[in-house]
Amino acid sequence: MTVPTKLYEGKAKILYATEDPHVLLTHFKDDATAFNAQKRGTIAGKGEINCRISAHLFQLLEKQGVPTHFIDCPTPNTMRVKAVTIIPLEVVVRNIAAGSLCQQTGIPLGTVLQPPLVEFYYKNDALGDPLLTDDRLRVMNLATAEQVSRLRSLALRVDEVLSAFFQSCGITLVDFKLEFGTDANGSLILADEISPDTCRLWDQAETDPNRRVMDKDRFRRDLGDVEAAYQRVMERVLQQAL
Ligand code: UDP
Repeated sequence: MTVPTKLYEGKAKILYATEDPHVLLTHFKDDATAFNAQKRGTIAGKGEINCRISAHLFQLLEKQGVPTHFIDCPTPNTMRVKAVTIIPLEVVVRNIAAGSLCQQTGIPLGTVLQPPLVEFYYKNDALGDPLLTDDRLRVMNLATAEQVSRLRSLALRVDEVLSAFFQSCGITLVDFKLEFGTDANGSLILADEISPDTCRLWDQAETDPNRRVMDKDRFRRDLGDVEAAYQRVMERVLQQAL
């Protein structure tokens, strides 16, 4: 058997080429990082959990008309995806104030944001993924005005679908980060992953502000029981039909 060609290794995933140039293979790792990789660790079983959750959510979104790069999962921690050109933007949608929004603006944790807030960050570790304004987006030529408007509407559509889905799991979708790519025709396609690494998820059965956390904040803030929380998210997500 030939050794697959590694195209890129990120903090949480490795990307391999396949014999088909239009298809890539993503391997989800157990490695975890936070604070721009200043904090590192592993979360046992995370690769498989995030791969399975992402696969379920991508299929849900496809059914609801959002184009995604998902093809299938040949093994529990690998995903075949359509090859796209990634746009170097992190699109964050916030339904409830948490994390950097609270730290940077003083908005109290838990404030409901209606309509949801959509933010664009420059995906650049060396610069610390800075928050971009509309004018900076334009000056930096990271996306056309038309693409920015389409990214915003796709992100809000993803939020509608995922918020309703997580609600049916007894989980509040606080905020999340999306990444998009373009295909050969220049169409925008949702890429990367959607998992407890990239979403804030609060258990509606818990009122305690630490106990309710079911996402990477458990790792970031040393809250413990990280694996168990990720596992619980997976169980509830996979239980819900698409
Ligand atoms: N997020 C992410 N990757 C990043 C930055 C943020 O997946 O590089 C997610 C994060 O998990 C949260 C949302 O985007 O669900 C908003 O994150 P925030 O800006 O509050 O950043 P943080 O708390 O990570 O500083």
